[in-house]
Amino acid sequence: MRIVLFGPPGAGKGTQATMLSRAIGAEHISTGDMLREAISRETSVGLSAKGYMDKGFLVPDEIVLDIVKEKIASDCRHGFILDGFPRTIPQAEGLDRLLGELGMPLEAVIDLEISARRIVERLSGRLVCPGCGEPYNRVSKPPAKEGVCDICGCEIVQRDDDKPDAIHNRLATYEKSTAPLIDYYRGKGILHGIDADADIDDIRGRILKVLGV
Ligand code: ADP
Ligand code: ZN
Repeated sequence: MRIVLFGPPGAGKGTQATMLSRAIGAEHISTGDMLREAISRETSVGLSAKGYMDKGFLVPDEIVLDIVKEKIASDCRHGFILDGFPRTIPQAEGLDRLLGELGMPLEAVIDLEISARRIVERLSGRLVCPGCGEPYNRVSKPPAKEGVCDICGCEIVQRDDDKPDAIHNRLATYEKSTAPLIDYYRGKGILHGIDADADIDDIRGRILKVLGV
């Protein structure tokens, strides 16, 4: 299946995309993860992306489109779940062109709907293990021992872009540049809205139901 998981920052795209990729055997493509990896490897993409990301602004379309094209062309024959991409109309148009050329159009766009208040609550409490990537939350999923990863014992941290100023930028950017994609995909008849103000398992069930798996 070829799916886009859509929604504002903090809607739970990453968590659900990981689940879904296991459930249906499609490749999970997270542009946020790919960009963070490029930053940690200090590649030229990483060096150009870092300044935008830390402040909560979007990385330029050409950079993101290039990394997604390469990924889809190389290892997505069994389908894919896009997480955090597309985030602008030009990205969506670029994706449509690519998938048109490959003869594999998108099948569904799942929009995880959640209120602005809940987003801020989730993001500002979010922590992550830099060692193994395990996500935590001060409120909903604290580690057993404060500040330490349950799995690998590393010290857990807050992402630079989960600090208050950056959260503000990310929400404003979402409203201005990303939310218009809802109408774009509704117009194509492939948009499915899902109430994401629920717990992880409920959201999971709703997504699987919409996809009929
Ligand atoms: P979240 O969905 O919680 O904001 P992501 O990990 O998806 O987190 O993205 C983190 C940051 O990476 C974004 O704020 C942005 O700077 C950059 N980024 C990720 N995907 C894209 C994209 N498709 N276009 C532009 N920038 C992106
Ligand atoms: Zn860890």
